Amino acid sequence: MGTEKVNLAVIIKNPSNDAEFLLIKQAPPPKFNDPEYDSFQDSDLWDLPSAQLSPLGSSLSSSQVQIEANDNSLLEFLNQFDLDSAINQVFGQVGLEKATKVKWNLWKVVEEPEFGPGIPTKTVYIVGELEPNDGKLEDYCKWMSINGCADLLMEVQPHIDRIGPLVVVGLMNDSTQHANLNIPPTSRSLEYPPGVRLIPMRSRTAKPFHTTNLVVFVPGSSYDGFGGDNFIASGDALIIDPGCNSAMHKELEQIVTALPRKLVVFVTHHHHDHVDGLSIVQKCNPDATLVAHENTVQRIKKDDWSREYIPVVGLEEICVGGQRLRLISAPGHTDGHMALLHVSTNSLIVGDHCVGQGSALLDITSGGNMSDYFRTTYEFMDLSPHVLIPMHGRVNMWPKHMLCGYLKNRRNRESTILKAIQDGAKTLFDIVAYTYADVDRSLWIHAASNVRLHVDHLALQNNLPKDFSMQRFQSSCKLKFFSRWIWEYLCSTLSIKHHHLHIVKVLGAGAVAAVAALYSIRKILHSKKNV
Ligand SMILES: [Zn+2]
Ligand SMILES: [Zn+2]
Repeated sequence: MGTEKVNLAVIIKNPSNDAEFLLIKQAPPPKFNDPEYDSFQDSDLWDLPSAQLSPLGSSLSSSQVQIEANDNSLLEFLNQFDLDSAINQVFGQVGLEKATKVKWNLWKVVEEPEFGPGIPTKTVYIVGELEPNDGKLEDYCKWMSINGCADLLMEVQPHIDRIGPLVVVGLMNDSTQHANLNIPPTSRSLEYPPGVRLIPMRSRTAKPFHTTNLVVFVPGSSYDGFGGDNFIASGDALIIDPGCNSAMHKELEQIVTALPRKLVVFVTHHHHDHVDGLSIVQKCNPDATLVAHENTVQRIKKDDWSREYIPVVGLEEICVGGQRLRLISAPGHTDGHMALLHVSTNSLIVGDHCVGQGSALLDITSGGNMSDYFRTTYEFMDLSPHVLIPMHGRVNMWPKHMLCGYLKNRRNRESTILKAIQDGAKTLFDIVAYTYADVDRSLWIHAASNVRLHVDHLALQNNLPKDFSMQRFQSSCKLKFFSRWIWEYLCSTLSIKHHHLHIVKVLGAGAVAAVAALYSIRKILHSKKNV
């Protein structure tokens, strides 16, 4: 069992204006110390002050801070934690004297949905009012009202101040009409920014994730609609990437049935962890309109979607409940991959271009391409999005920083690959063995397709040494790589000390080798026919 992560978010009310609470400017992630990347800066992010709660030792008890709540079980839960030090930490952050006289009330406890990896975080919100003149505010703190926050969230201009998810989840979501959306109680969701709801649903996705974020967008009726007919599709609700596995189809059915009938369905790309629930959407709402890139639709099975669709290439707009969403061409992960920008909140839904944690894989079998990937990444940065919404993992509040991190990692990897080639590596296997020497051999197959994409990218930029033969490299990519990898994998498995515990693994590898041999013979016969 992992240890539970619990945060304390503190709503400090303004003693001279009951409608206002204290926000603190959030510290951005550490710089790269490289002007290439540090020149891209996300705008300031303001959110409630917060601190992680650590469990109390067995004999200690939190003495100074008293929290009132109607729910005794929640109080019992809270008393397991060192509230004193968390509140002191928060007051230290905001630069105020220790406020021992503040009366705290429990506001709510919110458990994060299952974004993964790792266990969901719980956030305990408490509210208290300062004594008048308890201290003066530092520059990095300000009083804001809910209306002030809503203005910054809903009518975003690029580069202006941003409001973070603690404010939205803690103070705003309950008061919006989107909260009424009938989502099955088993599916926890996150609504950020207001109106955009993320429901991580179990899917056939790759580790370390287990879920795909279903994005449900249902603007309330309070928004004034846009007129005009420049939209490629319009509806009262939108869902993105219904990719849950069959065990979740009942829940997806409930969600789709609860949505307005005029429904637009957008899929970022064709991978099964993004389209596995399409057939359910079609069954529950035969009038729903599918919007996707032509290359994506061509790869979706007829069993998943047999009805009409609207092919898009980027820059088209969708109108949902009077709000504008712009389609963004985003090749790289696949050649049909697309992103979607919610214009008024400047939120960018990025598909699999980025994931909540770690790096995204490119699919070489579906037109994945490194040059496209770099170009798309820069285009995303030009949009200066206020938040990145990936389909796996948590939302990212530092979009430019995250995108620069991706660029930096990929460039580092590419320079290691170039180094391997300059040191004499000529085949795919040699380059993979050099670049991924410290990585589990079982992951080398995935790594190999990344290496191929990097070598293509290096060739396109004329960065490869003159004596490197692309022809020889390409001829080493399939069977030759596979057979050398099998051998390497077998050797690394056999070399594990307690090999009798790994007998199953070894037998498995033996079976793989046999399949590989059969595959090779078939391939050779087949390729002879085609020459
Ligand atoms: Zn994908
Ligand atoms: Zn995916």
